[in-house]
Amino acid sequence: MLPSNQMSVLAELYGSIAGCQDCDLARHRTNVVPGEGAEDADLLFIGEAPGWHEDQQGRPFVGPAGQFLDHLLASIGVRREEVYIANVVKCRPPQNREPLPAEIQACCRWLDRQIEMIQPRMIITLGRYSLARYFPNESISKIHGRPRRLEEVILYPMYHPAAALHQGSLRSTIEADMLKIPQILGQARDVPQETPETQQLSLF
Ligand code: URA
Repeated sequence: MLPSNQMSVLAELYGSIAGCQDCDLARHRTNVVPGEGAEDADLLFIGEAPGWHEDQQGRPFVGPAGQFLDHLLASIGVRREEVYIANVVKCRPPQNREPLPAEIQACCRWLDRQIEMIQPRMIITLGRYSLARYFPNESISKIHGRPRRLEEVILYPMYHPAAALHQGSLRSTIEADMLKIPQILGQARDVPQETPETQQLSLF
């Protein structure tokens, strides 16, 4: 449990995100989708952008990809309320197109603040846009399921849950990557926090 002043800081941040007009996506949205979950979550998942369902409800991952994410969380015995779920951009791109570099750039300050406030032990990137935030030159097909330490946090790249909906053969890969999380998190707690640079964890 966090001190109540920190909870109100996150709530205050949601208010600021709701008022954001920093890029054109603000003109098209029904609702802003700031993110949700436990303020003291160990696991922070970062998706791409809200889709139609998320835009309607103002909540992340509530459509078909979200149902698969819920299933993945259940597979490791974790409830959605225990983790934090955010996106690279907080407003739905029209017709679900991919977010543009300028939109990602304009929005990244919100995600930076969320990470700063929550201080998760593990950041799980879902798909290539959140992966690119940390490893712009890496390919998800090569590094998914391989944890890396970045200063005090473990980064863990996974395919986006929607990938399994489009390409059924990825489903078992995504499920297998998810099942590794509890062990990585357990080991993350044992690793000293002062490792300076990004490095491959020699856990797996
Ligand atoms: N896909 C995402 O990347 N984020 C959501 O919130 C929903 C679908």
